[in-house]
Amino acid sequence: MTDWTRQYRKALTFSYDDGNEADVRLVRLLDAYGMKCTFNLNSGLDSSDVWQYRGADVRRLELTQCRALYAGHEIAVHGSRHLSLTALSPEALDAELAGDKKRLTELFGTEPVGMAYAYGEYNDAAVEKLRSIGIRYARTVEDSHSFAVQSDLLHFRPTCHHDDPQLFALAERFLAMEPDEPQIFCIWGHSYELDGNANWDRLERLFAMLAGKEEIFYGTNAQVLLFREELC
Ligand SMILES: [Zn+2]
Repeated sequence: MTDWTRQYRKALTFSYDDGNEADVRLVRLLDAYGMKCTFNLNSGLDSSDVWQYRGADVRRLELTQCRALYAGHEIAVHGSRHLSLTALSPEALDAELAGDKKRLTELFGTEPVGMAYAYGEYNDAAVEKLRSIGIRYARTVEDSHSFAVQSDLLHFRPTCHHDDPQLFALAERFLAMEPDEPQIFCIWGHSYELDGNANWDRLERLFAMLAGKEEIFYGTNAQVLLFREELC
């Protein structure tokens, strides 16, 4: 990984969870605009896991068939079975986190270095477990509404969700900045929400605003967040 801050003052990155069928459309849109995303996946679940969002079925992808789909983006841990991490025994925590990392490595051929907390839930034991298995950043759902570089990457706070009322105001602020220090804009969500809320045009409008800028580095979460560690 290269240190993007040598060439750029701003970085844009996306983080999408749960590996569902709407990711196919999301990847197409990301690729059309040159955007990079991290996909947080649950390797212990498959297309038999179906749930409802706004009255429509949401189905997981078969991850055994997704290597080509996600090529060029980052694969990260989201828990083998999408469990809340706060009430698990040490053995169950190991299966949920180390088990997911191992299986995703087999499925995608690269070892994940990041994760996103299922339901946004974590405790100190979960954070320590992640540290012990070599996970270097973990995304919460605690929106910062900020672009400042963060140092506690196992409690990483994204800038905002794509449905945040401030999304476009934040994007305009990000574009207008001429910062001395590196700035990171991280947007998160679930692609099935774009189906359920019928607002793919919202994300496309954001991509059109932010795409193709010379001063912005477009990278995965790992590429954007770990630039300091890469210097070591
Ligand atoms: Zn999730």
